[in-house]
Amino acid sequence: MPRLGSQADASAVLREVFGHPRFRPGQRDAVKAAVAGRDVMVLLPTGRGKSLCFQVPALVARRRGRGTAVVVSPLIALMDDQVGQLGAKGIRAAALHSHRTPEQRIATTDAFESGALDLLYVSPERAASEAFRQQLEASPVSMLAIDEAHCISQWGHDFRPDYLRLGELRERIDVPMVALTATATPRTLAEIVQRLRMREPEQVTASFARKNLSFIVRAFEDDHDRVQALGHELDRVKPRDVASTGRAIVYCATRERVEAVTHRLRAEGYPVVGYHAGRDATSRDRAQRAFETSKARVLVATSAFGMGVDLPDVRLVVHLQAPGSPEAYYQEAGRAGRDGKASRCVLYFGDEDVRIQQHLCGSSEALRALEDYARIDTICRQQTLCEYLEGQPGTPPCGRCDVCRPSLRRAPAPRRRKPLTKADRALLVRVLRRLDRPVAIEALSRALRGWEVKRLSKADLLTLPELGALQRHDDAALRAGIDDLVTEGRLRRRMAPRGPVVMLASADEEGAEYRDRALPPPTSGATSIAPELDRACRAKARELAVRPSALLPRRAIVGIDRARPQTLAELRRVPGLRESTIEAMGEELLALVERYAVSRARG
Ligand code: ADP
Ligand code: ZN
Repeated sequence: MPRLGSQADASAVLREVFGHPRFRPGQRDAVKAAVAGRDVMVLLPTGRGKSLCFQVPALVARRRGRGTAVVVSPLIALMDDQVGQLGAKGIRAAALHSHRTPEQRIATTDAFESGALDLLYVSPERAASEAFRQQLEASPVSMLAIDEAHCISQWGHDFRPDYLRLGELRERIDVPMVALTATATPRTLAEIVQRLRMREPEQVTASFARKNLSFIVRAFEDDHDRVQALGHELDRVKPRDVASTGRAIVYCATRERVEAVTHRLRAEGYPVVGYHAGRDATSRDRAQRAFETSKARVLVATSAFGMGVDLPDVRLVVHLQAPGSPEAYYQEAGRAGRDGKASRCVLYFGDEDVRIQQHLCGSSEALRALEDYARIDTICRQQTLCEYLEGQPGTPPCGRCDVCRPSLRRAPAPRRRKPLTKADRALLVRVLRRLDRPVAIEALSRALRGWEVKRLSKADLLTLPELGALQRHDDAALRAGIDDLVTEGRLRRRMAPRGPVVMLASADEEGAEYRDRALPPPTSGATSIAPELDRACRAKARELAVRPSALLPRRAIVGIDRARPQTLAELRRVPGLRESTIEAMGEELLALVERYAVSRARG
């Protein structure tokens, strides 16, 4: 593909048009490759300046008379935002999307076809249309940019079907393609490259680590405790003190909660406004302005707030309720400290958060990853998040989170935790007797509270009839109960390579340890077919080159095992089972269930 221009051109555009003295690290590589006429896959954290990765090459091409850059973007508000900002710099940019009048669309199309535009933003729907493709061929186009490119991933959290057709654009015109995203695992990146039909793209990434942010997680079960703790947390920013500066954002999962918390904080004298998508546009604008002008220095919001908002001095982001994925969390928490000054990102987390997010129907895999982030308190928080988001190890511990600096963990808020009853403790002993081998305490606690994580399937804990039997307790209560039983001499605790394990005190030590044996069948009399389902899932996942858990989450395996569906309709009712999975292997799953039923009848 032809070069768009030189790196010197690019530096000139950066200085003269955007007023920045130099490129940021990832930007430089992306721009360099694009002006050299190469495809580029950009993975940069939000706020690092992804837009310039295509805007600068676009203007370089323009200066060399190479035509218009076409930018596909999924959000109308962001498109209009960028068009406005570029216009203010004297750049001729326009957008084609469903909020434009027919007259506006005709004017934009004419301008595009006559080569009068520097950049043209289009929605994915429009970009995928045949009419647009014809325009594309008829117009001078210098390059294609695909923003939020992870929307192409069918396994991702933002899947947009129209993105699947963007690869076809590439077939029509031979120009460099720049794809950009702030959130993609290595597998998603590969999927983007393949589906967009990119040609040996330059891959550009930069570390997601933010040196000035302290990540902190607090465990809470009780709503009242959360709001009380929030008050203390906010007071560090001194929002009630008119002379102080700095803002705080409080994220909640639901609109009702935003209203309730706003109300409550206001009653306590905090200068606070609320923001969520259920309010009308005027009310939202008013809230945003009050926050931006510091009239209200605390903003309580759902995830509807923040897209395209870039305030430098947010000193604190509290998630009073958890979002549905590490991606969402890092995006929202990352709105703190944009000015580079020390800021805090605090997540309140408890079983309630998982229930709410499950109810909101996000990806169960992403939710589990967030849960791991929140519950594992032995690995640096920032390291956990960055390695997850970058898809590779290599982030050093941050030295500023509550794991790196345990002093950041203040005394936990008062809890009304109920201790395990006698019956609960008897149940614990019964489970360990049934298992007859050492079990990781963490896994045991999770299984008894109804969690389904990968490690549990390996330990056979998912087939326990007692799965979820102690749901009403939290992890700490269960561990305390186990401690009591250890003190009483009924259980024994050991350190194993992957953490502490417990076993019955009377268990035969020799050989019992780490013996990998199948469980006796559950008391219900039915033998679990979870292992068969798991095997089928793995085989299929290999065939489709996807992660097994993305195809068939543990929850769905357990669900099928329990429900034993006989028809596709019944299969569809199994929680956690996606339509795409039913398409891919629904018949196979039914056959498996049936085969088992037959063999049991014979046996
Ligand atoms: P992203 O799309 O990655 O979230 P943006 O493109 O919106 O980020 O850029 C975030 C901010 O960084 C903007 O205010 C932009 O002006 C600024 N910025 C981008 N590149 C540079 C640069 N090379 N030097 C200084 N500031 C930059
Ligand atoms: Zn850390």
